[in-house]
Amino acid sequence: MKIAASSETGLIGLLHNLGIPAEAVLLSIDGKLVPETASVQKGQEVEITFYKHVPPFSSPQEPRGHWKRANYSPNCAYCQSTPAIYLPYANQHLCPKHFRELFEKRVNRSIREYNMLNKGDRVGIALSGGKDSYALLHALLAVRESLPFEISALTVDEGIPGYRDKAIENARKCCKELGIEQHVYTFREEHGKTIAEIGKERKENLCSYCGVLRRKILNTKARELGLNKVAIGHNLDDVAQTAMLNLIRNEPLRFARFNEPLIENEKLIPRIRPLRDIREKEVAAYAFLHGHEYNSGCCCPHATSALRWSVRHELNSLEDQYPGTKSKIASSFNTLQAIVKDSVKGKNLELNSCRECGEPCSDEVCMGCKMLGEL
Ligand code: SF4
Ligand code: ZN
Repeated sequence: MKIAASSETGLIGLLHNLGIPAEAVLLSIDGKLVPETASVQKGQEVEITFYKHVPPFSSPQEPRGHWKRANYSPNCAYCQSTPAIYLPYANQHLCPKHFRELFEKRVNRSIREYNMLNKGDRVGIALSGGKDSYALLHALLAVRESLPFEISALTVDEGIPGYRDKAIENARKCCKELGIEQHVYTFREEHGKTIAEIGKERKENLCSYCGVLRRKILNTKARELGLNKVAIGHNLDDVAQTAMLNLIRNEPLRFARFNEPLIENEKLIPRIRPLRDIREKEVAAYAFLHGHEYNSGCCCPHATSALRWSVRHELNSLEDQYPGTKSKIASSFNTLQAIVKDSVKGKNLELNSCRECGEPCSDEVCMGCKMLGEL
């Protein structure tokens, strides 16, 4: 959405007057990313890009917390270039080059800290064509300059007309340009139905169906292709949302399974999340700076009915008002993870093979087969 300023105004004030959390958007002027601390001149147009649509604040708000105290800087913290982004927690303005360097350094750090990758790994990137997967691909290509491993892309088409088609097209284009081998799988071929068709029968918990059935495709196909890791583009916001969802749904054991399965099994391909320590807003900015095209405001039509949607919106509002909320929740998640994991040590947890499809599962039949059987 484009807004022409009627007088010179600070962008952060403009956003809050419109009831839009700064955490939910990127701002650009003449196609160039600008920090929210910048001002717009009278008559100048500012483009507000929702990288995932969110409902506005219930009413306009005064900028609070870090936004209230933030002052624009005409220079990057490390050079004389014009800044493209403001990092409120570090009180730093960065130009595109220094922001990209910092982003990639942090991805490298997370990879080392959680021991995600080793030399010679064969990694399949879950490439949906959205900003997270696009940023993940570019960041891993940068990491690969110092740590050699193989990359291919796994794209799952759930069959969501008007939403996924565009993203899949982006993913195809991107793999072609970067010379990445891409494998595309569809819900229709693998499960016999698209998620849109499943949605006609099951209106409730559709995202659970979508997630379970997508993960099943990723695991089986990665194994068939001989890959030993699947990288997914979950960012810090996803981690904080997942932590909140585990609490709301009373599923504490899920805390322990987030990084790695509770029980190792050769049929389960480990999943890694190299962007887990980076805020969604920065992932969106990194993808933008790499030329990712945003279909602003476009969102899966089923997303609004998911509990995650509400949690996401509340966390964006909280982050705007109480800076650091998301990273504190993510840190608590890490702490709880270790505690829950310790508490189940030594317990007799076993994995079976699904009676229907042979995939590893804790019951006799895996969740994917159970869900498909219900339809
Ligand atoms: Fe699937 Fe739900 Fe995501 Fe749509 S919002 S792609 S239905 S998980
Ligand atoms: Zn099964």
